[in-house]
Amino acid sequence: MTKLSMLESTNRLIDKALKYSDVSPDVAHRIKVPNATYSINFGVRLRNKIHTFTGWRCVHSEHMEPVKGGIRYDLDANLEEVEALAALMTYKNAIIEVPYGGSKGGLKIDPSQWTENELEKITRRFAQELIKRDMIDPARNVPAPDMGTGSREMAWIADEYRIMSPADINAKACVTGKPVGKGGIAGRVEATGRGVQFIIKEFFRNPDDLKKLKLKGTLKNKKIGIQGFGNVGYHAAKFLQEDDEAKITAIIEFNGGLINPKGINVEKAKLFFSEHGTFKNCPEGKFQEKTDDMLIAEYDILIPAAKENVIDQKNAKKIKSKLIVEAANGPISFEADEILNKQGVIIIPDIIANAGGVAVSYFEWVRNLRHIRFGRLEKRRNFTQLQSMIDAVESMTGKSMPKAYKDKFNNGVEEIDLIRSGLDDMMREAYQKVRAAMIESKIPDLRTAAYKAAIDKIAISYETIGL
Ligand code: NAD
Repeated sequence: MTKLSMLESTNRLIDKALKYSDVSPDVAHRIKVPNATYSINFGVRLRNKIHTFTGWRCVHSEHMEPVKGGIRYDLDANLEEVEALAALMTYKNAIIEVPYGGSKGGLKIDPSQWTENELEKITRRFAQELIKRDMIDPARNVPAPDMGTGSREMAWIADEYRIMSPADINAKACVTGKPVGKGGIAGRVEATGRGVQFIIKEFFRNPDDLKKLKLKGTLKNKKIGIQGFGNVGYHAAKFLQEDDEAKITAIIEFNGGLINPKGINVEKAKLFFSEHGTFKNCPEGKFQEKTDDMLIAEYDILIPAAKENVIDQKNAKKIKSKLIVEAANGPISFEADEILNKQGVIIIPDIIANAGGVAVSYFEWVRNLRHIRFGRLEKRRNFTQLQSMIDAVESMTGKSMPKAYKDKFNNGVEEIDLIRSGLDDMMREAYQKVRAAMIESKIPDLRTAAYKAAIDKIAISYETIGL
């Protein structure tokens, strides 16, 4: 059985969507192929010798600039994968309406094999190579975290850009996902997982969609299986458990999984995994070393949040979950997608399901360019207005307003409240837009509808600027 690469899978999914679109073949081809991919080899002196590292940054589409997309650190990273991930960014950015083209970066490295100091050296050298080529720049190309990277790496990259471009007043906007004290924005670290939660909640607000899967009620006590307990998987699990009382019955990691039909305590499991690097002997559930069966076990919702192509033609037929929410990029191969659609599984595709990260990255980038935090100008004015309203109500009724109400008003709106509200709105809109495109164009599944809507939008942009 030959397995399609992620790039081949993505291209086939696009071709499928194009059947529902009026975009001409030449424009479609222009949209599909990446504009440029840089391969970079660079050396770093570590442990008394020069180590050569290989990395890539692909600019898939510049129909809008800057282009945007994460940088991943992974031993499996390769040029084709980076190109596929950059393509996903183009479609994702279009569908959630952030003003960016698509890009992605990768460095072939196992971060666990290097110390923090060594990783800093490697990251700074990689950043220098990218900055020199305008592959990191607030107006041209703005990376973010992805698999194997986080706010720490983004802080190193931002600092390297500042050193190399000291006169750029917008230097902080060269990368998003930075720590809060270094130009980052509250809510970015957990944004992708939070977005996964928001889009699932939106799905549950549509009784017709629930009916198709014979699901009822709210998320309370729904059984959820999560693959990948990193940034995205952990946060999605945590919010679904804490806010929505869903039951996380399985967590699958690369070196074994944890099962508990009564629901795993996500926070305790995270503490254990961070400390031991494995779920073996974790008291929160039953440890299982071989995880193939765990992915195909029965859940109301399966959330793959690790890496690409984990559901392929070999295991797709055995999947028993009704709803799959792609928190990871490309976790379902093209062939598996076809099989699952035939089985009646609903898939909320990656280009909307995990768009929360880029949505909040957008807020961070705008905040860096404005040089002022959101809500700063209005906060005091809103407070005074609310105070006048309380005074008016009290004087008209002759009663004093209960303290609990007053405290709520007096707390005002913090920046994090605005970020969450913006993210919630973008996730709801993305789901509704794709759902509407699916119904209107009689498209059988959400993924094809999402790609069609994104391609139509990008085509207008290309046609209006001329190719
Ligand atoms: P991460 O490195 O924080 O976490 C990934 C986790 O998956 C790790 O705990 C790792 O051990 C685990 N894992 C790796 N291979 C596995 C396997 N075969 N089976 C089970 N677990 C495995 O990465 P992340 O940032 O959480 O990203 C996860 C996915 O989400 C990636 O596909 C990434 O592209 C996508 N994504 C991330 C963001 C973001 O903001 N971080 C945004 C959009 C999409």
